[in-house]
Amino acid sequence: VRTKPHLNIGTMGHVDHGKTTLTAAITKVLAEQEPGGANHYVAFDRIDRAPEEVERGITITIAHVEYETPTRHYAHVDMPGHADYVKNMITGAAQLDGAVLVVSAQDGAMPQTREHVVLARRIGVEHVVVALNKADLAEDEDLLDLVELEVRELLTRYGFDGERVPVVRVSGLRALEGDPVWTQRVLDLLAAVDEHVPIPPRRLDLPFLMPIENVLTITGRGTVVTGAVERGTLEVGDAVEVIGLGPAVSTVATGLETFGKPMARAEAGDNAAVLLRGVKRGEVRRGQVVCLPGSVRPHTRFRADVHVLSAAEGGRRTPFAANYRPQFHFRTSDVVGVVTLDEGVTQVRPGAAASLTVELGQPVAMSPGLGFAMREGRLTVAAGTVREVLD
Ligand code: GDP
Repeated sequence: VRTKPHLNIGTMGHVDHGKTTLTAAITKVLAEQEPGGANHYVAFDRIDRAPEEVERGITITIAHVEYETPTRHYAHVDMPGHADYVKNMITGAAQLDGAVLVVSAQDGAMPQTREHVVLARRIGVEHVVVALNKADLAEDEDLLDLVELEVRELLTRYGFDGERVPVVRVSGLRALEGDPVWTQRVLDLLAAVDEHVPIPPRRLDLPFLMPIENVLTITGRGTVVTGAVERGTLEVGDAVEVIGLGPAVSTVATGLETFGKPMARAEAGDNAAVLLRGVKRGEVRRGQVVCLPGSVRPHTRFRADVHVLSAAEGGRRTPFAANYRPQFHFRTSDVVGVVTLDEGVTQVRPGAAASLTVELGQPVAMSPGLGFAMREGRLTVAAGTVREVLD
């Protein structure tokens, strides 16, 4: 029985700014809190690494840490930087109720800091708390003040409330080493998350939808798909449909688990594993969605509004023209598409806002408002929102 509201949070920020170290520090600091002690913080279920995505020959590992504060239950996702970080972020961001933006006090905002902030905003992360990390290395407070100011301005520029965003000066490394002063700062950061990130309206009344992150086969039981429930609820025995990318599969959810524990019901915000009756491994794959039958349809053509990233945001250096063919990332899917520009527009420059018509090579489950990223290899070209579905 769930007694506290559940939230999903995650770390984002430039490579080497300390995301993974901070996640490890949070886990360690919470694990050392006295049960029932003054803070009532509990960390359980250390780190649970998702299995490799063998099917596509790439490794997508996302570490989940689960913990409770006095008022809430959190699933915290760290998307390691060594893999294709942005791809993992697109997978995870739609599910995040809030994010901890990790900025190294030594380096300040870097291209990936801006790239992640742009994407977070488009893909639906509404609340950010800043961990001004590596504060142990700063020789004076003036430098920290400067970086803080820069980060606040950056957040404001991309549509967050930069004035009000909490900025907590931390040292993930020193907290991990057990230093009491820096340990307290990590607790301060968590308290800031508790205070600043509101309990999201759980989209429980909407039809069930869960993007598939991984497909596993459990010997003797069948095919299991895992992901974070985007909306609605699912109970054991409910009929579901798996759609997008290929032929639709209709079946029944015969089992449900979250963090390795069986449950009767999964709801928006939960990380879930769903056992699908009579489905073979090859019939379903990452990038599809599991949904209430008939509640959403796959589409190949749509109109979109995009923000084209500049080079300083980690984007292209040169414009793109009509018939440009980048990859489109929606939730957990990655599909090639062809871009058509509006009449009279011959090219789109980095840094510009544009409206585009897109034709995808494979259908994707979508409706207006869905966020996506346009990428070329590992370069994020644009972040966009579906405005209108065509066919
Ligand atoms: P990530 O790529 O953002 O996940 O960064 P990591 O957590 O892997 O950290 C990158 C490097 O910065 C590692 O060598 C860490 O030991 C170091 N580092 C991380 N946090 C801190 C910190 O608070 N202070 C100092 N001095 N070094 C840190």
